[in-house]
Amino acid sequence: MNNRSNLHLILWDIDGTLMHCGSDGTKALNRTFEELYGIDNAFYQAGIGSAMDSVILDRIMDQFQLNKEELERVKQTYVDILKKILEQNQNKKILPGVQELLTSIKESENGFSALLTSNLRIGAETKLQSVGLHSFFEVGGFGDELGEKWDAALRGISEAENHFGVTFSRENIYLIGDSAYDIECAKKIGIKSIGVATGWMAYESLKEHSPDYLYTDLSDWEQLIIYQKLVKKEVVK
Ligand SMILES: [Mg+2]
Repeated sequence: MNNRSNLHLILWDIDGTLMHCGSDGTKALNRTFEELYGIDNAFYQAGIGSAMDSVILDRIMDQFQLNKEELERVKQTYVDILKKILEQNQNKKILPGVQELLTSIKESENGFSALLTSNLRIGAETKLQSVGLHSFFEVGGFGDELGEKWDAALRGISEAENHFGVTFSRENIYLIGDSAYDIECAKKIGIKSIGVATGWMAYESLKEHSPDYLYTDLSDWEQLIIYQKLVKKEVVK
């Protein structure tokens, strides 16, 4: 029987953790502002580093004094363009061990997966669909609202709790991500961090941020802490 103490929620970052699609997100964003407003290289011109998509869009619109009432049109154009760019990207891929681990979580009786990403919800869906991972996720925290990734994490946790009908204790929530921002996010809200060096940051650099667990990639998925916690569903005969 399940009890609350052995129910685990795993929050998955997308880019560099679940999958790789190069800088397709940034490319799509730049092309959106080019197409709609004739602005070149909006992302770089606005001088933005890594931030939530909502924050990036907001800064670009401020910088170029664009009418924010057009935000929905901007988002829709962005997703249409992103879809096309992803279709043409022959190098996009699911990262090692991801599919196996997601399947194990799905087939377990005490593990649940949710997304946690700076991407807009529709952007996240588009990316996952492009590599066939969308069926693993129904809920998550996304970059649609202003704020930081930990704000989205709290929204994602509460969305997951409502959806799965479970209240997770913080010590049973894990965040898997490839960046220092992900590790910082986990620490801010008191959940466990799992660093994975399959994105832009090297293993040694991630290590400096002291994640609870750190892996070069997820190819040894059966050895991972999360997998060890999973309870196989009993087959009813
Ligand atoms: Mg990432």
